[in-house]
Amino acid sequence: MSDIIKILPDHVANQIAAGEVIQRPSSAVKELLENAVDAESTEISLIVKDAGRTLIQVIDNGKGMSETDARMCFERHATSKIQSADDLFALNTKGFRGEALASIAAIARVEMKTKRENDETGTEIIIEGTQVLTHEMCSYVKGTSISIRNLFFNVPARRNFLKSNHVELSHIIEEFQRVALAHPEVAFKMFSQDKELFQLSKGNLRQRIMGIFGNNYNEKLVPVEENTAIVNVKGFVGKAENAKKTRGEQYFFINNRFIKSNYLNHAVTSAFDGLIASDSYPSYFLFLEVDPATIDINIHPTKTEVKIEDEKSVYTIIRSAVKLSLGKYNITPSIDFDQEQIFNIAPLPAHSTVSMPQVKFNPHYNPFTNPTGINKTPANNQSWEKLYDFHLSEKHEVQIEAEPGTVQQNIFEKDEEKFSGSNVSVIRIQENYLASPVKSGLMIINIREAIERIEFDRLMSLAGAEKRASQQLLFPVTIELNNTESEILKEIIDDLNDLGYDLCDFGGNSVVMNAVPSGCELNHTEDILSLIEFYKTSFQNVKTEKKELVARGLAKRMARRPSSFLSNDEMKNLIERLFATSNPNHSPSGGKIVKIASIEDLMK
Ligand code: ADP
Ligand code: MG
Repeated sequence: MSDIIKILPDHVANQIAAGEVIQRPSSAVKELLENAVDAESTEISLIVKDAGRTLIQVIDNGKGMSETDARMCFERHATSKIQSADDLFALNTKGFRGEALASIAAIARVEMKTKRENDETGTEIIIEGTQVLTHEMCSYVKGTSISIRNLFFNVPARRNFLKSNHVELSHIIEEFQRVALAHPEVAFKMFSQDKELFQLSKGNLRQRIMGIFGNNYNEKLVPVEENTAIVNVKGFVGKAENAKKTRGEQYFFINNRFIKSNYLNHAVTSAFDGLIASDSYPSYFLFLEVDPATIDINIHPTKTEVKIEDEKSVYTIIRSAVKLSLGKYNITPSIDFDQEQIFNIAPLPAHSTVSMPQVKFNPHYNPFTNPTGINKTPANNQSWEKLYDFHLSEKHEVQIEAEPGTVQQNIFEKDEEKFSGSNVSVIRIQENYLASPVKSGLMIINIREAIERIEFDRLMSLAGAEKRASQQLLFPVTIELNNTESEILKEIIDDLNDLGYDLCDFGGNSVVMNAVPSGCELNHTEDILSLIEFYKTSFQNVKTEKKELVARGLAKRMARRPSSFLSNDEMKNLIERLFATSNPNHSPSGGKIVKIASIEDLMK
């Protein structure tokens, strides 16, 4: 038999690499912007059409390329940024893999014009699916312009996987903002459909933040600065009172590279402990500077996680730097305040004697004589036997472990007989669980997931109905959105209105709310912001309808804080409503609602 292993041809290898590097239009935007920054440009413009499907163009005034380099840059592993593996540990450029342009050229049509400052003429190259179509001299100013057209023209799977233009554009805006934030010394512009979305002149970080997120950010920022041998921390955190209910503007940069880190995020949020509600998020723009040798950025090209050598110390330094700033700008209550309180205790009358405090306890207490130990609700003043002995236990089969999506048989209902609830005992365990004895053991219900299912079914059944259960607002509320949020809202506004909202888009980035679906009792503005966030971040597969996703987000929001007290009837009512839904086993986002612990499990 002859040998069968072959080296893949370049265009195939490039296309495979492209699958990793360029996942959606925003990945190409990121690569082009980073190349422009690496080329020491002072002005960079990004132009997109149809969220990058039709065109992504980046124009810079950087150092440009020679005629040979202009051809070379489309080869795989062709880079001017590193020469040896050692360079990886002293990296001060964004790129270093030499993969981006080769990948993009394998899956799109790329037109490039470039010229170095002192060259007479520039070079124009057109390359499509790795094939060079044009390579000639041209007249051009200093710098580089790269246009990407027909992205994914030869990768239909990738093209079909793309989300709507609004969502893709919001990803692009996000990449743009990350690069622009990291480089306030560079002027940036961004256009979409010939409309200018951003015009950021060069300046300092504070000005850049205001340029991107609005001038009202000025009063919201608290400067942070701490220089240590391990890490220099610099930037801003948002004041506690401006913390948002949705994870909004949270940015970490390490050596000017945007990163995500749950661990370091925790360092910041924990510095806010006690200053903000536990369900809100502070904003921050923090720049960490470390010796490049102590981090490993040699990770997956599209990932944003970075390994840091001494992560624990970095955590502590960030936390205390943020705490210090919050304190310095008089945002935390001062420590002295507490001490004064302590000294305010009235002095004892003269000559009085002080006795040891007594600990009182009941020597006859035996926890095992109180079988219902954990709860004091009247429903459980019954004996253990009685709890087992309710009418369902003999007559009904429990059917609970079906696959999500299948029609459920009502656990309390068979042969037309309705669950009356009267003989059922339910107790609440901790905040989020109900427990009720059933034939095969103890049924545990996750309250939040249950409410989510109930509300989701209710919202979907009302959707589009003539007379929606809306709640008119006494005063219309105006919601101000940023560019990303506004793009997404445009996409889901009809669905929101179908579900009971009454929202009007007045152009620009504001929207007016006149009514909300009944049952929305929380902060209506935050509801909308968190729905937008949910929609953007949740996985939207092709089969999930937009409206369904929106209803899911809303139901999740409604279930977020179950009322702290539920009467016995309310608990039974909740169970009854749950089992009348389309799928009492699973919440719309797939969470498990009901579990049965068998007697054997309980005995264990
Ligand atoms: P990397 O950035 O990892 O080096 P790329 O494929 O993104 O790989 O780019 C290859 C090379 O092309 C770069 O190393 C750089 O020398 C050159 N290059 C790319 N974009 C520009 C640009 N806008 N201006 C000048 N040179 C560029
Ligand atoms: Mg690059």
